[in-house]
Amino acid sequence: MRITNLNPDTAIGASAWFVQIEGHRLLLDAGVHPKREGRGGLPLYDLVKNQELDAIAISHCHHDHVGSLPIALRYFPKAHVLMSELSYFLVERVLHNSVNVMKRQREELGIKEYPLFTHDEVDDIAPVFQAFKYNREVDWAAFQKTRAGFLSPSLEFYDAGHALGSAGISVRASKETLFYTGDVCFHDQTILRKARFEGVKADVLIMETTRGNRELAPGFAREGEIERLSQAIRRVLQRKGSVLIPTFALGRTQEILALLALMVAGGQLQPQPIYIGGLGRVFTEIYDLEAHRTHRQYPNLQLHEALNLTVLEQGQAKKMKLTGGRLFVITAGMMSENTAAHDLALRMMGDETQAIFFVGYTDPDTPGGHLKAAKHGEPFLFSPSGGQATRLCEIQDFDLTAHANRGELLDFVGQVDPRAVLLGHGEEDSRNWFEEQIRMRYPRIKVIQPKPGEAVDV
Ligand SMILES: [Zn+2]
Ligand SMILES: [Zn+2]
Repeated sequence: MRITNLNPDTAIGASAWFVQIEGHRLLLDAGVHPKREGRGGLPLYDLVKNQELDAIAISHCHHDHVGSLPIALRYFPKAHVLMSELSYFLVERVLHNSVNVMKRQREELGIKEYPLFTHDEVDDIAPVFQAFKYNREVDWAAFQKTRAGFLSPSLEFYDAGHALGSAGISVRASKETLFYTGDVCFHDQTILRKARFEGVKADVLIMETTRGNRELAPGFAREGEIERLSQAIRRVLQRKGSVLIPTFALGRTQEILALLALMVAGGQLQPQPIYIGGLGRVFTEIYDLEAHRTHRQYPNLQLHEALNLTVLEQGQAKKMKLTGGRLFVITAGMMSENTAAHDLALRMMGDETQAIFFVGYTDPDTPGGHLKAAKHGEPFLFSPSGGQATRLCEIQDFDLTAHANRGELLDFVGQVDPRAVLLGHGEEDSRNWFEEQIRMRYPRIKVIQPKPGEAVDV
């Protein structure tokens, strides 16, 4: 089989893997680079543009995995688009939101190429989306090939425990098999239960490596981290400061809201308005509505009933009163410009009573990363539009990741027992850690780090 890495970047970037297996062609994910502007953020579709594609399979609905799907379908108009049932409930909202964000950036940042696709285009492609339950084997070859008597390869989605609908994807042809982890979490989160990848075996494995550069402190426990966050929130509210928790709208927001709901139920937090974003509210509703289909904890916990969720209107972050203890669980997770989290952080960081708590990965090259690295009382450059700032507020980092820890992924490689592992979705030092460890622990397995645009035969 031949696999081409279409990610334009060597870091996490935009996920897109072009797979050729026994005469069939499949694209795994169609992401967009969260930090690159315009067409520079797209996967390298031009490299495979004249090849006929049978299907596109989407691992989950985060932008770095699905954000360029309408563009991919311009290159491959005949492809079916396959995804998990729960992703199917999210995908159109994610793409329509992308159009809105790109339109806003065109106006505010003057990016002329935006939007890269339109609302109409999203509506036009929606009928080709197909939804499948986890652990159902489905055929994906192009119709004309199955009609011509070709044996169709099959595909199966496995619950990846990372965000609602997230899936690892198993591809089986007549002679060979492939498994793609997507983004995966091997521990229970507050709502979502851990990945169910038991029994997965494959000849070739494509694996995420997000946390390869992160060693867990001895004795680290997620419960302890949650308790620390809970105490920190109470402490700030007691001194009448506000708490800003920057999050992504899908996944992180609902996990943090669930923690707050448990705090309210346990009497550790007084009922009060929790400010969230519009998209965060939409995804929270879907988490609530689809609770019965989700492999999760607290199946009866309905976030919108348990909490007083209040949507922060556009522009409100710039003027609302911040004294008196308010709680914000709001986008963007890395505080990119023109988001409520960015505007709130700008107003809060110079005030000692306020607190900003990070609960997920923050790229060092983003405003959130700059703020995290800033020293108390020393000026630093927050963002181009925010300019120089000085941090006096409380900043803390809580490790509540939705990604597998590196030791767990290493064990998973042993379970899958492939002849080759392709490493992706990670910084260079993360991938290198995995390469070294896999070579040491499983010397028979070939380890490959395909460069942007590189095709490898495995
Ligand atoms: Zn993700
Ligand atoms: Zn990702």
